[in-house]
Amino acid sequence: MTDDTDIKDGPEGRFSTPARSASEARPRREETGRSPAAPRLPAAKRRESDPLMKAAQYVRGVGPRNAVLLRKLKIETVGDLLYHLPRKYLDCSKIVPMNRARRSQFCTVRGNVIDAESRRTFSGKTITKFVLTDGTGAIAAVWFNAPYMARAMKEGDVVIMSGVVQFYDMAQMVAPDFEVLGTDEAKVMGDMTPGTPILPVYPSTEGLTQWRLRKMVSNALGSALEEVRDFLPPEMLRERKLPSLADALLKVHFPKKMKEAETARRRLVYDELFLMELVMALRHKALKKEDKTNRVAVTPEIDAHIRRLFPFELTSAQEKVIREISRDIESPKPMNRLLQGDVGSGKTVVALHAMLCYVANRCQAALMAPTEILAQQHCLTVRRFLAGSRVRILPLIGGMSKKERREKLAVISAGQPDIVIGTHALVQEDVNFAKLGIIVVDEQHKFGVLQRGSLIKKGVNPDVLIMTATPIPRTLAMTVFGDLDVSIIDKMPPGRKRIKTWWVPRRKMPGAYDFIRDKIRKGRQAYFVYPLVEESKNEQTRRLRAATEMAKLLAGEVFPEFKVALLHGRMSSEEKDSVMHAFRDGKIQVLVSTIVIEVGIDVPNATMMVIENAERFGLSQLHQLRGRIGRGAEESYCILFGNPRMPEGKERLKIISRTSDGFKIAEEDLRLRGPGEFFGTRQHGLPELKVANLIEDYDILRMARKDAFSIARQRAVSAGGQSVRVEATHYNMMLDAVRDRFADMVELIGVG
Ligand code: ADP
Ligand code: MG
Repeated sequence: MTDDTDIKDGPEGRFSTPARSASEARPRREETGRSPAAPRLPAAKRRESDPLMKAAQYVRGVGPRNAVLLRKLKIETVGDLLYHLPRKYLDCSKIVPMNRARRSQFCTVRGNVIDAESRRTFSGKTITKFVLTDGTGAIAAVWFNAPYMARAMKEGDVVIMSGVVQFYDMAQMVAPDFEVLGTDEAKVMGDMTPGTPILPVYPSTEGLTQWRLRKMVSNALGSALEEVRDFLPPEMLRERKLPSLADALLKVHFPKKMKEAETARRRLVYDELFLMELVMALRHKALKKEDKTNRVAVTPEIDAHIRRLFPFELTSAQEKVIREISRDIESPKPMNRLLQGDVGSGKTVVALHAMLCYVANRCQAALMAPTEILAQQHCLTVRRFLAGSRVRILPLIGGMSKKERREKLAVISAGQPDIVIGTHALVQEDVNFAKLGIIVVDEQHKFGVLQRGSLIKKGVNPDVLIMTATPIPRTLAMTVFGDLDVSIIDKMPPGRKRIKTWWVPRRKMPGAYDFIRDKIRKGRQAYFVYPLVEESKNEQTRRLRAATEMAKLLAGEVFPEFKVALLHGRMSSEEKDSVMHAFRDGKIQVLVSTIVIEVGIDVPNATMMVIENAERFGLSQLHQLRGRIGRGAEESYCILFGNPRMPEGKERLKIISRTSDGFKIAEEDLRLRGPGEFFGTRQHGLPELKVANLIEDYDILRMARKDAFSIARQRAVSAGGQSVRVEATHYNMMLDAVRDRFADMVELIGVG
């Protein structure tokens, strides 16, 4: 049988049962040993027996030459081919005669190219235009300023295209979706029955036509579909209204209606998110498997004693979170908790309460910050709260001599300091605590997942409390920190005023300077923030303001009567320290900086912030920056100068001037920039998703997460008020699927 006859078979013929019958196939499945009694097969053996693991090369219609092309698309196995999903569909059931294509309507037409031209207009624009006819009329395909499109079609080609019909000098579609059919294909399309109206369009590579890809996929489906094993039990599918995996794989490629493709995609999205969340659930379980090394009690006496250190009433949100954390502390299993709260919501106090619960029980606590400035500041804060108490605090911060460090390490391992505060130097190999009860990690997302792993692997099994400075959107929290329990402080301490935020044009700069000068005379301080350290000759960044030059200007011309100082990341830590101390002590009125002041710095008297080139900062970054002010009793002001060229940049500045709720801002930031960008360029542990979209598929994510956690906990899901058991066969299949799909994440914790 040639490949072409195969295509003409129509949908049923395409995916007809392969030579081996279903009844023959079944015993093979049993062979793989997925009965509760038999041990699971190692990956290599499993691969041999799994039809999806076979090499794609041996699918009918592939062969060695196409296999090379497929490899360029990262397709090695039959499974890869089946999961090579269409990026869109051409709905040929909607093909209309050209004379019936209505103005402003989206439609699909098919025709022969009868004219092709590419020219430059007087104004220097390129116009590329192809005229197509189907005998009833003619419609042009037009591209502006895309000279490379001149090669997209040629006279005589048969083309299917979709787009909105407009009229210029003739009916036309601007930049339509299109596909050029080969000669044979055109013939096939010509007598195509209404049975296969929707054509998948795949991501492809040079030398591989859509038509050939379709054939390969359809042959792969034909040979493998019968043997595709579904790791979701049928009762669960029914309850979750999801199609079987085989059905989904078939219909995602060759739907009869667009609705079918959507349903199929839903199932594949669910699978991907379910497996990801199963990793999270298994990690969560693994973290709780061992008992912690030092378990203590939080007695009412201890609690009351700690509270006496705080010069204010705790908010109800802080109370709630302290209860959650205290329960974890008393539990025999180690705490792994993420503490979320907007800047200034009072996370540090809550963390301090947790640390002191251990100290009161003669255990040690460690507090880890992402930068030295922040570690220093935590030291100051903690010392302030603990002034007059006997709690011993030891900073372990870089810039020590070897000898100094050795001495400190000896003291730590002798169990002398109660609280050790430092940067990531805290988790280095040679740091050994005598009796470590809890590690508090501040600003976690800057550390990345790996370090968290190494922290937990330190031998002892302490409680871990992670504080984030940036509120994380729900969907990302479930993805990146999905294995943690989450506490949220969703209320600000009383008396906090909203920071007045204005986005103003550059020409108002002098007015802003006067305003700030006036406030400084009344004793306040100000931050000026710039995107660059130094002026740049780089084409893209040349126009941006830089802290170094602006510090000179502000000191020399704008505020000669005040003390202006510069702070940026290229300064040594001693320099940075001395500047920060001077600013905190009020010896400096204007602090000119880059985003190094982004996190955690707390100077309540600094009530003003000017951010120039604000369009260069992300929303969450702006919110973080702004969080440096508004920390005292005085009214605070944030003035944004920025001239965004992109609509997205405008939207960001509008949102930040209107909204002060950090969680809302985080959601908007995610919406505008997407998950990859949200965390910036730092390592963030975001798994690579192929099918699901974390923002659009949030509802499926929630459902998948609930199911995954429930299955990891009790091998069952609740459905329709009942509990549906997941038998060992299915559970083991899930574990295999997790290993295949998220191998890198699984290795981190050694699930299994
Ligand atoms: P975060 O770490 O969440 O940014 P902090 O713990 O640094 O917030 O708290 C911000 C400021 O608010 C600090 O000066 C802190 O002492 C103060 N604070 C914390 N909790 C309360 C409260 N319940 N009432 C009044 N002030 C508080
Ligand atoms: Mg803080």
